[in-house]
Amino acid sequence: MYLDNKNEEFAEPNKALFLDRDGVLIDYIPYLSHPHQVNIPLNAGKVFRKWQDSGYLLIVITNQSGIARGYFTANDVEEVHAKIRQEYKKIGVYFEDIFICPHQPSDNCQCRKPSPYMLRQASEQYFIELSHSYFIGDAISDVECAINAGCNPIFLLTNRTLVDAKNLAQKYPSVYMIKELSETIKLIEC
Ligand SMILES: [Mg+2]
Ligand SMILES: [Zn+2]
Repeated sequence: MYLDNKNEEFAEPNKALFLDRDGVLIDYIPYLSHPHQVNIPLNAGKVFRKWQDSGYLLIVITNQSGIARGYFTANDVEEVHAKIRQEYKKIGVYFEDIFICPHQPSDNCQCRKPSPYMLRQASEQYFIELSHSYFIGDAISDVECAINAGCNPIFLLTNRTLVDAKNLAQKYPSVYMIKELSETIKLIEC
């Protein structure tokens, strides 16, 4: 007989690196819907591999309102995700799960970022301690999603998000901002 090492009462909780999809995991294209549009940013694989090798679960948290808007289907999104997994697999990076909100703002759903819903769901499902986890995003809604869930936000600054960054810095002066994903490596706790 084997001991049940999944017994959560005794096991150490997991840590996760949560990742926004568009603009973080893959290059940003508005309402991207085809696998051939998937492009992995330079060095992203190396950086995520470091987090993964340090024991962090990699979990994607993405709003895909293009589904509710009728721009593409849930199946199109699955094909894009299969391509993302395939590309990252080549560099040894594995995503534990991908959480998707398919709604648009007018749906008033409970899952759309900045709601903490998807992070809490991931936390329950994978026994993750959110206060020891990080969320890299390139939108204010990512940062607020992390804050609302008690997770540590990291804001990836790009030319596209300079205005957001200014607003963010005013509202949350202590938020960690980076220009390169590689800057996150020093945050890894072993
Ligand atoms: Mg994004
Ligand atoms: Zn939703």
